Amino acid sequence: AKSDGRNTWRFYDEEIDKANIDKFNLLQQIRLALKEQQFQLYYQPKVNLTTGAITGAEALVRWPQLDGSVISPLEFIPLCEESGLIVELGHWVLQEACRACQRWQQLGYGGITVAVNLSSVQFRDGALEQSVQQALKDAGLPAAALELELTESLLIGEALNIQQQLDQLSSLGLTFAIDDFGTGYSNLGYLRRFNATTLKIDKSFISSLCMSKRDEPLVQAIVQLAKSLGLNTVAEGVEDAQTLQKLQQMGCDEAQGYFWSPPLPEADFLRFLPSV
Ligand code: C2E
Ligand code: CA
Ligand code: CA
Ligand code: CA
Repeated sequence: AKSDGRNTWRFYDEEIDKANIDKFNLLQQIRLALKEQQFQLYYQPKVNLTTGAITGAEALVRWPQLDGSVISPLEFIPLCEESGLIVELGHWVLQEACRACQRWQQLGYGGITVAVNLSSVQFRDGALEQSVQQALKDAGLPAAALELELTESLLIGEALNIQQQLDQLSSLGLTFAIDDFGTGYSNLGYLRRFNATTLKIDKSFISSLCMSKRDEPLVQAIVQLAKSLGLNTVAEGVEDAQTLQKLQQMGCDEAQGYFWSPPLPEADFLRFLPSV
């Protein structure tokens, strides 16, 4: 039994070593990818459910590979956060997204906004406000065209002086959206403290809206709560007309999802916009 135990331990050690080596290699590749500008931003249109107009786009990072495949952020963002590389990647995302939105405005899409996802690690770094300010300035983009998406866990997290940083960012003139709403904490007090303008209802509630009877009152309640707090609602992950119709009936303001379009490279996103 003892030797069995020892073999088991050895087996685990090797597994851990291998996992660490894989992680290390991936991290090296990510560093190189950053240096060589291999990352690319995709843009997913956000639609006004009353008018059908495209109000903006969410920027989502992609890692294209030489063989034509594309690595999802779910596969490298966690490692970037763990290693701190997200600060550098996040700065690049801000720069790139602001420049893209400025190009759209130049083309005549004046009201269009761009939304950028932020990680709590960027708040811990201490230079976030500077990074955002720099990105806006370099791009020549009005701050009002930039929306920052923050998750609930980030907002209630332990990051130091998060309130102060949010206030500083807010005073630049940009707006905040609370991302993945409904998956985090039930304490809604923070909704008032952080002056967000938008609630994004997590796609886990939206995708099952037409299947699960239980999600319908939940989504309705979120929309009403948002309304009573004066917040804009955005549903993520809308994939079919039936779900869209339900959301319209509920009074949800905006949505994004495969029903309209997946996230697209900038050139394709521009083709998706109505001509001006
Ligand atoms: P998220 O912010 O919740 O982004 C929404 C995700 O839902 C995106 O996945 C998007 O492609 C996907 N999606 C959009 N429409 C639909 C739909 O109709 N159905 C379904 N099933 N999914 C849909 P993606 O692009 O793989 O991004 C995954 C996550 O990675 C994001 O979740 C976000 O948390 C993170 N992420 C992406 N880009 C960045 C970034 O630049 N910075 C940071 N910190 N995180 C990022
Ligand atoms: Ca998001
Ligand atoms: Ca989300
Ligand atoms: Ca999410």
